[in-house]
Amino acid sequence: MKSSAVTVVGLGQMGAALVPPFLRAGEDVTVWNRSPQKAEPLVAAGARLAADVKDAISSSDLIIVCLADYATSDRLLRDEMLSATLRGKTVVQLTTGTGAEARDAAAWAHDAGVTYLDGAIMDYPTMVGSPECMLLISGAKEVYDQYSTRLGVLGGRLTYAGPQSSAANVLDGGLLTMYYGNALSFMQSSAMLMAEGIDAGQLEHALQTFMPVITATYKRSADAIQKRDYSGNEASVQVHTIGVQSLLSRAEQDGIEHRMLKLFADYLNETLARGHKDAELPAVFELFSPK
Ligand code: NAP
Repeated sequence: MKSSAVTVVGLGQMGAALVPPFLRAGEDVTVWNRSPQKAEPLVAAGARLAADVKDAISSSDLIIVCLADYATSDRLLRDEMLSATLRGKTVVQLTTGTGAEARDAAAWAHDAGVTYLDGAIMDYPTMVGSPECMLLISGAKEVYDQYSTRLGVLGGRLTYAGPQSSAANVLDGGLLTMYYGNALSFMQSSAMLMAEGIDAGQLEHALQTFMPVITATYKRSADAIQKRDYSGNEASVQVHTIGVQSLLSRAEQDGIEHRMLKLFADYLNETLARGHKDAELPAVFELFSPK
């Protein structure tokens, strides 16, 4: 085994994308997948296909796991027959999951004598290995520091999420919630603009210039939420309520799907009803805040 030997378990759309950056970095890469035919292009590129999971794990000190879910990973790795092979190895779990799943996996790894990092890949497979690709990694800082250069080949935006094993998954959930909110809002906006003869490309172009307003809103919201202070003199909840009602009316009049805008209007009306008429938009957070 070379000192820079890595194993990738799981060669789905994302797992397969993790292999070429390690090959380009000169690592000795072993792969395993339930359906071995998915390994063929990677073997042609220089990876070695392991005969089974045990062979895959024994081939490297660094094991990257990227499977459909944690349950699949548990079925494969938490096997009594593998415990001696796994002991002393480092597992980096890049399967998407919850904070609780990451905590459970870290506890298992601790008991099994396995060094463990949990992670989340914040981009699509085609971006893996690029300077723009973001990956979140959580776990002990000294372990992160030990592997950050090697893991850094997967994406230029490798980010340490914190010492709690759950941090990467929890942050991943937060960023994905933002992603879906933004992406679905783009669909809503595109439909409304197209009804008025403006295409989605123009929206996308205008958004680039508008982006600083959005990012400033995130920053102001984070400050306000942390302080639970929604005061300000920019735009009141009352003004935002009228604005969202106007968007809702436009979509209704144009016969466009508008359930999302109705939801926005409901949130604002409820915030008004709670007495936040003069507060700034982040006051809506009170609806989401755990009781
Ligand atoms: P995928 O293409 O559906 O691949 C799933 C992987 O899990 C395959 O290797 C599959 O093996 C394996 N698998 C499923 N059930 C199994 C079982 N019972 N036993 C053994 N292996 C099993 O999914 P993916 O897109 O690669 O996603 C993998 C992880 O990356 C997920 O957690 C996903 O959320 C995360 N991720 C994906 C993306 C993305 O854009 N694709 C982005 C960020 C994060 P077979 O090939 O044999 O079916």
